[in-house]
Amino acid sequence: MNQTDLNILMLEDDPMDAELNKAQLHLLEEYRCNVQWVFSKQAYLDAISATSPDIVLSDYNLPQYNGIEALNDLRKIHPLTPFIFVTGAIDEETAAGTIKAGAWDYVVKDRLFRLPLAIRSALLLKEERINTTRAEEKNRQLSKAVEQSPVHIVICDRENTIEYVNKKFTEVTGYTANEIIGKNVEILVPPYIKDEYYKSLNTINTSDEGWKGESQSLRKDGSVFWEYIYISPLKNDKGETTHFVAIKEDITKRKQMERELIEARDRALRSDKLKEAFLQNLSHEIRTPLNAIVGFSELLNLDKQQTNEQKEYVSIILDSSNQLLSIVNDILTVARIQTGQETVVLKPTDINAIIDNLYASFKSQADSKSLELTAQKGSSYAAYIVQTDETKLTQILNNLINNAIKFTEKGKVEFGYTINKKQIKFYVKDTGIGIAKNFQEIIFERFRQVESSLNRTFGGTGLGLSICKAFTEMLGGTISVESELAVGSNFQLTIPLQEIEKKPAPPHSFSPPSDTRYTILVVEDELFNFRLIEAYFHKMNFNIIHAQNGQEAIEYCLSNIKIDIVLMDIKMPKVDGVSAMREIKRHNASLPIIAQTAYALESEKQHLLEMGFDDYIAKPIKKDELIQKVNIYLPNKQP
Ligand code: ADP
Repeated sequence: MNQTDLNILMLEDDPMDAELNKAQLHLLEEYRCNVQWVFSKQAYLDAISATSPDIVLSDYNLPQYNGIEALNDLRKIHPLTPFIFVTGAIDEETAAGTIKAGAWDYVVKDRLFRLPLAIRSALLLKEERINTTRAEEKNRQLSKAVEQSPVHIVICDRENTIEYVNKKFTEVTGYTANEIIGKNVEILVPPYIKDEYYKSLNTINTSDEGWKGESQSLRKDGSVFWEYIYISPLKNDKGETTHFVAIKEDITKRKQMERELIEARDRALRSDKLKEAFLQNLSHEIRTPLNAIVGFSELLNLDKQQTNEQKEYVSIILDSSNQLLSIVNDILTVARIQTGQETVVLKPTDINAIIDNLYASFKSQADSKSLELTAQKGSSYAAYIVQTDETKLTQILNNLINNAIKFTEKGKVEFGYTINKKQIKFYVKDTGIGIAKNFQEIIFERFRQVESSLNRTFGGTGLGLSICKAFTEMLGGTISVESELAVGSNFQLTIPLQEIEKKPAPPHSFSPPSDTRYTILVVEDELFNFRLIEAYFHKMNFNIIHAQNGQEAIEYCLSNIKIDIVLMDIKMPKVDGVSAMREIKRHNASLPIIAQTAYALESEKQHLLEMGFDDYIAKPIKKDELIQKVNIYLPNKQP
């Protein structure tokens, strides 16, 4: 038989009795009894403090020490160790007194045969007590956790009468436990969400699952706060719901933050709209006078009579105005990128035409620095039409070529593209000053330039490449540079190929009309701007009529005068360009009306087309562009 060790401490002053006791222990067959016999108080105290006996057997009457004292001393150190009195005959009152004092049993010496039985029962009871103590401890911990929980906890019965609330609940609501216990939980529900509240209660009643969600609650003072609530049913052994437990967290601060964020977002949106309107206006106001400056300077430049000095002055005005225009454009673009107003407008784009146009516009600049300029494009028999944002792509390449020419003193500038199935890779290569390794990343950041502001050789705002980068990313592409100091740089722009189609190249030639005399109605309130357009058409076979506002334009178009094309300004007194266009189109839908606008934002241009204009031309108006546009819309054009 497997025996368990049983350590017994025996306090007995009579050796004879001690032996008798020991003899009885043999009957405990399941235990291997290790008896430590002590007969003095000191030996007993030493034993209980040095070891933890499984059980103590003690005489009731001891010289200089009393059994009850021995019991108390044991309980102080080992409260769960069974203590059995083994004593001579005692009266009933004394016996009851021993049990009251905490003894587990008593065995009278003339019935010593009961000792093994008493020990067994005491050991069983001990185990039970240990389990109960453990369970009680666990319960204590649990209720402490509930009581001290950082969330509020409410328990109510099936009728929604509150039975328990924890400390946090009282802190948050201002109710004491006494005030709230016994009340219906409805007292916490604001009247305007009572219906919703009953619906959720129904859900909990009809399903096993709890209910969770955000809701509002009332404090004792009637103020409302937000909480996240989780309510679950408590069931008895038969599976019947007896209680509901609600665990709630005060989320008023979070809700407040959410509200503030939403308000801040709305404010930001409103201010973005204001900014957009401001930018459109600024763009318009700056471009209008620049239009006249650039246009007339270009015209003066054509004048063969000018002295060299005059020519130089005019060319300085022209350069400075163009620089000013490009700085204004860059600043406005950066502002639009930052406020998220820059949008991508995808349309079929002839990339060979872009390359041709860029070549044409940079050729003279390259020539003036004696740089060789070469452009490489796709097969001359096919035009590559891709789906992209033409304006943005052109602006990126424009910036890169402009920089390449600016930072190259001798040698060449090459640009073009290569194509594979998924991507188009544009490149702009130069043999210029190059860029040191440590600058190759940061030059794409706003305002970053290789030169410090004190020793500038080259002008510039440091915005161009940041715009290129932002635009490239909007097109879903990447931009990078490979460069070596004093050897040159190679900027590469890769964008995904969304759609490609080959078609015969359209002729790029233009012949101004010669025989037929066409009439163009120029609607423009700024006299200088009208004069400029008139001058552009000088010596060409056009009849130019001037209307100073939308009202006059309508009158001309409804009169007997035959008008072939209308060039319509947008912002004008009396009747604006959009209203005038609509009125004219109502009577003569096929008459081409081209918007000429200083609102050069891409979104604005698209908007004009959507409103019904046939086309648009942005101010400052360039002569070639104007004539080319007009040519497209002339009825029965000359070849
Ligand atoms: P900006 O040209 O107005 O200064 P960019 O953003 O276009 O602004 O260019 C930032 C800087 O990058 C330039 O100031 C120059 O230092 C450097 N950089 C750009 N392109 C080249 C190039 N092709 N060769 C050498 N340096 C260049």
